Amino acid sequence: RTVPGELKWAASPSEGGWEEVSIMDEKNIPIRTYQVCNVLEPNQNNWLRTDWIPRSGAQRVYVEVKFTLRDCNSLPGVTGTCKETFNLYYHESNEDRESYIKENSFIKVDTVAADESFTQVDVGDRIMKLNTEVRDVKVTTRKGFYLAFQDVGACIALVSVRVFYKTCPLTVRNLATFPDTITGADTSSLVEVRGSCVNQSEEREEPKMYCGADGEWLVPIGGCLCNPGYEEKGGACKACSAGFYKAKSTDPGCAKCPPHSHSLRDGATVCDCHSGFFRADSDPPSMACTQPPSAPQQLISVVNETSVVLEWAPPHRLGGRSDTSYSLECLICQTGSHGHTGVRALPRNHSIAGLKTTRVVVSELRAHTHYTFIVHARNGVSQASGAGAAQSVSVSVTTNQATPSPVSFIQATDVTRHSLSLSWQQPDRPNGVILEYEVKFYEKDQRERSYRIMRTFSRSVDVTGLNPLTVYVFHVRARTAAGYGEFSTPFEFSTNSGGASTVKQSRTQRRRNILTQVLHKNIRTHGCCFSFSSFRSTCTSYMHTAKRHLHNICSYTTISHPPLHPSFSSLVSSPALASPTVAGVKIYVDPFTYEDPDQAIHEFAKEIDVSCIHIEKVIGMGEFGEVCSGRLRAQGKREIYVAIKSLKAGYSDKQRRDFLSEASIMGQFDHPNIIRLEGVVTRCKPLMIITEYMENGSLDAFLRKHDGQFTVIQLVGMLRGIASGMKYLSDMNYVHRDLAARNILVNSNLVCKVSDFGLSRVLEDDPEAAYTTRVRHIPIRWTAPEAIAYRKFTTASDVWSYGIVMWEVVSYGERPYWDMNNQDVIKAIEEGYRLPAPMDCPVVLHQLMLDCWERDRAERPTFSQILNMLDKLIRNPGTLQVCVSVIPEMCVPEWSLCEWLQSIGLERYRDTLAAAGYTSLDSLLALTHQ
Ligand code: AMP
Repeated sequence: RTVPGELKWAASPSEGGWEEVSIMDEKNIPIRTYQVCNVLEPNQNNWLRTDWIPRSGAQRVYVEVKFTLRDCNSLPGVTGTCKETFNLYYHESNEDRESYIKENSFIKVDTVAADESFTQVDVGDRIMKLNTEVRDVKVTTRKGFYLAFQDVGACIALVSVRVFYKTCPLTVRNLATFPDTITGADTSSLVEVRGSCVNQSEEREEPKMYCGADGEWLVPIGGCLCNPGYEEKGGACKACSAGFYKAKSTDPGCAKCPPHSHSLRDGATVCDCHSGFFRADSDPPSMACTQPPSAPQQLISVVNETSVVLEWAPPHRLGGRSDTSYSLECLICQTGSHGHTGVRALPRNHSIAGLKTTRVVVSELRAHTHYTFIVHARNGVSQASGAGAAQSVSVSVTTNQATPSPVSFIQATDVTRHSLSLSWQQPDRPNGVILEYEVKFYEKDQRERSYRIMRTFSRSVDVTGLNPLTVYVFHVRARTAAGYGEFSTPFEFSTNSGGASTVKQSRTQRRRNILTQVLHKNIRTHGCCFSFSSFRSTCTSYMHTAKRHLHNICSYTTISHPPLHPSFSSLVSSPALASPTVAGVKIYVDPFTYEDPDQAIHEFAKEIDVSCIHIEKVIGMGEFGEVCSGRLRAQGKREIYVAIKSLKAGYSDKQRRDFLSEASIMGQFDHPNIIRLEGVVTRCKPLMIITEYMENGSLDAFLRKHDGQFTVIQLVGMLRGIASGMKYLSDMNYVHRDLAARNILVNSNLVCKVSDFGLSRVLEDDPEAAYTTRVRHIPIRWTAPEAIAYRKFTTASDVWSYGIVMWEVVSYGERPYWDMNNQDVIKAIEEGYRLPAPMDCPVVLHQLMLDCWERDRAERPTFSQILNMLDKLIRNPGTLQVCVSVIPEMCVPEWSLCEWLQSIGLERYRDTLAAAGYTSLDSLLALTHQ
């Protein structure tokens, strides 16, 4: 219609068929038409073909044809040859210059008939009944296409042919822009289109919409949210104005700045505090700015012998917050000194900071000593407001006279048929000059019905006139000018039958003295110190303990409702602590009993689609390949962080089986202290095992990194978790065989979980393995003697390993048995040597370790007993405060070498050592094997 000149479409036949004719339209404007009107001749087949039409990305095109058609009845004299329809064809082609019409290659779109026909041509009246017909056709295979009109004997004039396609127009929905989009190929097809967030907005959920075949947008999904500092207005994101802020994209809109804060510029994400006001890191931006508290008020002290009760009132001004806490500092001033020039004497245990109560009892102070206590008040913004901002109040007190504390342990140095030689250490707190010791003893069978008393000025006594082969009970107490202290707990020793001089002691006693005995024995038998290099570290730690002991003169206990340490309170509320012993627990199934390993894996582990896993970084190296961290978004679940172990390429069948066996084992467990299996990827390579992600990695490395940074309660909390996991495993009849701190993982809440399953069973069941081979593979330092000697792996051997883990934890990741070699470790264990208590280790914990290391496995505690014991300790943190003092003074520098040798009964070596140049304890620490 719009082409002014000749169209020159191809026609066939080129003459006598379709012809290009100019006519006048109803408005008398000349237009081009193609006409044909061979109604009188039979067998018409006249083709008219358009020029090549480029497709331009369209997949379905619409053809709108306007034409006029004569009614056959109106034509005088026509016979049956007259038709009232024509056919529309198309042909897809990359070729834009096809010269002639290849009829066979055209495909029929439709037969088109007129809605309106006209019976007579009355050009004078310009009666033209124009028909408009639209047809659509899918064109997807070539760059373009041709259309053709086939006439079979009608009288037609084509007036206009319009070819077009449809798009869904550019639009913005849910703050996402969707571009102008061409519709799909089929009438029912929906084209999925991803939107892009408008300026200053971010994706909330992937914005998507469907473009329908008719060019209409359907079903918007997801969308974007205005960035922090911006809010939605009329489909765009506009900056918050001054005085307003928006912190998170999910906040509904800009909000007014909270009290004591302001924003000066547009687009604020947070309001700044007015000067003198602060916000803590954990305060939400919607919270008012606050101030630190004023000082605590009315601090009063009541002295009771060597304890002081301190009580105070809360600060007058709380600064607009409710998180006031107190910390206590103790300055000790030696009697006779002036002013507050004393030593700061806060214990390492920080639980004294963060007090919520306003009453504290400080006990076990020195008698007759002047102390100054300072109580600081702080809240969440004390730190932000500057270091000196903690407000404080102080009080000075002088403690009263007090009797000595009890003697903590007694040892027998010589035993005969009728006598016992005993020695002991000075009480931890003598509270004055010790004038004498009183020794009370009686035959065990007699109880205290008849006892004898001996007094001595020294720290040893020879008790004679005893009956042979009889067990005696001894108590010792010290006396100062303030009177007698309390008696020690009972210590039992037995006289012998008169043979060699042996020391028969109670079990506890025996254990406590093992360290001294081994040292003793080795010096005697080998003439040199047994593995002295290992003792060097023990000894050094004793020196530290002793030094610290001197500094930590103040120890604190809170009364009534002691504030729980955060990790402690979470422990108490953990479901595992409260859960009863489950009756009829599930029993673990060994995946190696399945002939087909894939059957086991699919029974116990969920197959995960690899597209749900997003790997982020490498975090470690496992037995079979890299371990990575990443995210898992399972369908219908929220995204979680995971660890991903993969099996490196080129693996053997056996390696595949071993790799997947860990998942088959793990998948059977469900416990808060066992690493949780999320699933496996076995359907594509590399094979993967997906587990929950443990932010702090393995326990040994974690402890080494944070040496000395946890409270005893926190350490016991970790041990409790491990014991709880092990109890669960043992209830399921699963023996771990490789329990060690390196195989425990720690998450961000310090929760410890047992991991690494399936490695060691392979060692045990390999009948080919020779003794020496096995010894090389077995983690000797962690393994019970019966498991090393004859592969007797049981829950009781796991208990032994647990004892070693306890030692690793309390010593912050020290290597068990230090640099001793494996053979020496096996030999030392055989001879009765056990690891000594690590630095700062509460006696009860070391005792529990020693119980786990009983030679006779039937005598070791069960995990259930260990768990009960640890729960008791957690509930009574007081029991954890006492430190092992096996030989605490042994390495205090003030001690002479001579005194120390004497204290362990080896003074006869004094001259030999002196001759070799060892005259002080310090020099002895440098002693090597050589
Ligand atoms: P494994 O093969 O289990 O010994 O893993 C090797 C190392 O990867 C471990 O020592 C950890 O440091 C790290 N790792 C393994 N599993 C996890 C996990 N679930 N979360 C965090 N780190 C892990």
